[in-house]
Amino acid sequence: MSDTPVIGVLALQGDVREHLVALAAADAVARPVRRPEELAEVDGLVLPGGESTTISKLAVLFGLMEPLRARVRDGMPVYGTCAGMILLADRILDPRSGQETIGGIDMIVRRNAFGRQNESFEAAVGVQGVEGDPVDGVFIRAPWVESVGAAAEVLAEHDGHIVAVRQGTALATSFHPELTGDHRVHALFVDMVRANRAAESL
Ligand code: GLN
Repeated sequence: MSDTPVIGVLALQGDVREHLVALAAADAVARPVRRPEELAEVDGLVLPGGESTTISKLAVLFGLMEPLRARVRDGMPVYGTCAGMILLADRILDPRSGQETIGGIDMIVRRNAFGRQNESFEAAVGVQGVEGDPVDGVFIRAPWVESVGAAAEVLAEHDGHIVAVRQGTALATSFHPELTGDHRVHALFVDMVRANRAAESL
């Protein structure tokens, strides 16, 4: 088994290309995933930013929703940014009609939570597990996490709101590290994928 993990980016809608670039910069082999056969081949998966209702409807249409739920349930490492964070929430506070989630993190998210005051902004965010300076958080019609269950760990807050969470092999951020050229959050995820592969091959 090669040491380089293969990480997919769910490529139904959203900022797929930026994640592929960031993952490659963080020393993973990165590939778009559109079909269940492609999902079966990756060691981990990124759920990009975009529009969570659209992604969820396309996932159902492409026959990916159940395979996605099954792999996340089985412990495949997964990282969701913004819309991707919404997809990883076990519960959405204000879902649109027809909007489903993959789930995996025991948290309740509020969609467009920051967007009401401010469509888009950047802020320095200290993220647990990311060494050095705070991360430049890019928030675009971003959700926040209203509350987390006991199994979920809060990694970052902004203005008193939870904006990064980890539960086991699942990671989620309200913001978009793939847009900044700083690959430390992707590197954290690549490390999670490596650790999971090592544990599975024992
Ligand atoms: N507001 C979007 C949603 O509900 C997320 C925005 C984003 O991913 N930048 O899906």
